[in-house]
Amino acid sequence: GSCGNMSRIKAIDHNSAHRIHSGQVVLDLQGAIKELVENSLDAGATTIDVRFKNQGLDSIEVLDNGSGIAEEDWPSIGLKHHTSKLPSLADLPHVTTFGFRGEALSSLCALCESITIVTSTKQTEPMGAVIHLGRDGKVIDSEGRIARPRGTTVTLNGLFVPLPVRRKEFERTIKREFPKALTMLQAYALVPAATVTKPGVRLKVETVASKGKRNVMLATDGRGSLRSSVISVWGPKALEGVLDLDLELQVSVDPVMARREGLDVQSQSVKVSGLISSASWGQGRSSTDRQFFYINQRPCDLKQVGRAINEVYKSYNTHQVPLAVLDFQLPPESIDINVSPDKRTIFLHSEANFIAALQLPFRETQTSPDVPNAVNEP
Ligand code: ADP
Ligand code: MG
Repeated sequence: GSCGNMSRIKAIDHNSAHRIHSGQVVLDLQGAIKELVENSLDAGATTIDVRFKNQGLDSIEVLDNGSGIAEEDWPSIGLKHHTSKLPSLADLPHVTTFGFRGEALSSLCALCESITIVTSTKQTEPMGAVIHLGRDGKVIDSEGRIARPRGTTVTLNGLFVPLPVRRKEFERTIKREFPKALTMLQAYALVPAATVTKPGVRLKVETVASKGKRNVMLATDGRGSLRSSVISVWGPKALEGVLDLDLELQVSVDPVMARREGLDVQSQSVKVSGLISSASWGQGRSSTDRQFFYINQRPCDLKQVGRAINEVYKSYNTHQVPLAVLDFQLPPESIDINVSPDKRTIFLHSEANFIAALQLPFRETQTSPDVPNAVNEP
């Protein structure tokens, strides 16, 4: 019985617990789209189309030409902690895919009015299937035959409708939320250093107004050249006074850390590649809106690193900051991606040493006289 304020500890029912947790995995519009785009990249897509209907308030659609999802996997798509990317925990330090926790789609199922997936694999193309997922992540129904080249389309309808407070806030702040989502998509459009294993991606972002009028917000050519992606995102003028950066740093490793991790090294090499404005060219920016940082090609927040770079720049150009699109290639065992739900915060072993090692070579690039003619592509 009830006695005063004392109540017994009870388990939250499964559905409520799931909704509480999901609200932390995907916080906003940008977070929702990030998960879909990352899934497309993980599926090996080379073209990705993002479509916002009514700025994302009505629906968000991400189409790709990736691997598709095989029929035997449909029941697991929306199930929590179900992933095709992490065979065991031992593989976590070496994971090269964006996803590995299997929580995005299960969370999105709980956070949307409905989710529709159209998918086709190498085995089924040119035919595909339409799959409807319920709030609990289970397949409601699937229709087996629809024309669809290989790949997957995920449509989120009514984002946050199941959370009335957040939905209201989403509607109220859409004028800010939508540009934030575009900036996040720019980060994916600009991932530096396309490699054989990660080719260039043709990313197209469109808005569709209620009357069906389309507006292209962003489109890359998919050649995988960082300079051509910069042109796609900001136009050719953005490359004026911009240098190619290609450094290899030796970062000293904290001995305590090294012992703990069983590493027998005093220093680690870190490659830095990308583009940065030359201060001597006088082409800085008044805001950091053109600064994107990556670790092993994963977009991330590196505030300290950004600050260190801006500080060096400031000693040559007092009132501006550089355009900077930089990828830091680190040994996978010296980073931890699994820190924040959105994976944008990344723990770096020896971050202070890393920043110290970066400053001098960066200073040298800023004082080198041979600024290439930025308008001509290499
Ligand atoms: P994670 O990405 O961490 O594995 P998600 O919830 O984002 O978890 O996705 C669950 C699974 O659904 C993935 O592991 C993948 O197998 C499949 N999947 C999701 N989106 C796509 C896509 N666009 N193309 C192919 N498979 C996909
Ligand atoms: Mg994912």
